[in-house]
Amino acid sequence: MKKNNELYSGKAKTLYTTDDANYLIVHYRDDATAFDGVKKATLNRKGMVNNHFNGFIMQHLTGAGIPTHFERVLSSNESLVKRLDMIKVECVVRNITAGSLCRRLGVAPGLELNPPLFEFFLKNDELHDPLITDDHIRYFNWATDSEIKQMREYTLAVNKVLKKLFADAGMLLVDYKLEFGRYHGKVVLGDEFTPDGCRIWDAETREIFDKDRFRKDLGQVIEGYEIAAQRLGIKIPENV
Ligand code: C5P
Repeated sequence: MKKNNELYSGKAKTLYTTDDANYLIVHYRDDATAFDGVKKATLNRKGMVNNHFNGFIMQHLTGAGIPTHFERVLSSNESLVKRLDMIKVECVVRNITAGSLCRRLGVAPGLELNPPLFEFFLKNDELHDPLITDDHIRYFNWATDSEIKQMREYTLAVNKVLKKLFADAGMLLVDYKLEFGRYHGKVVLGDEFTPDGCRIWDAETREIFDKDRFRKDLGQVIEGYEIAAQRLGIKIPENV
């Protein structure tokens, strides 16, 4: 697959067109951002770690019957994916209270949420990704009824699969964000699943292995991502 032009550059990934209109190449960069892009840094190895982390999780989800855009890892920091028509909402599932849920509602962090809590957010940095309901999505035609249902079902199905995957490796999957798109009329999981977009804690000590290390200036950010990767058995090449 030949890499052609840059299509879009986001906060941590750049998308390129290929010689096949159905496929894109994702380049995971070493850039880290938080708080809607206000806090920025370059973290050595991040692109490579996230590329392999995402590849492993997406393959695991495909094996569990969840359709994803992921095709294959192409190089240390690039993967081949299907080109989706992205739906501009974020789907969040929470197993333990943390982050914006605690800030918004004044609830204590660290409380178990069983059954898990599902939330939709509008993908819009300028508006700080506001919480939205199914009715907003329907009213403003961001997605159809069946797409809303499908996104919720897939996001919760992902939780069943990944909560167990992380638990078996001694970790808690606290929460995560997914984005979906349309591919030939079907809803398909897009974007990424990496420690940039989820919260992962050690099951015993509750040590943090995700982007909260960056948000909260805890240091050893990528080392945390790599501990989670190593426990899941993800093979990441030595420094390149
Ligand atoms: O900030 P909040 O607590 O709502 O985030 C819930 C989960 O979704 C966290 O794992 C966070 O990393 C992820 N998230 C994300 N991108 C956003 C908002 C949240 O990856 N724009």
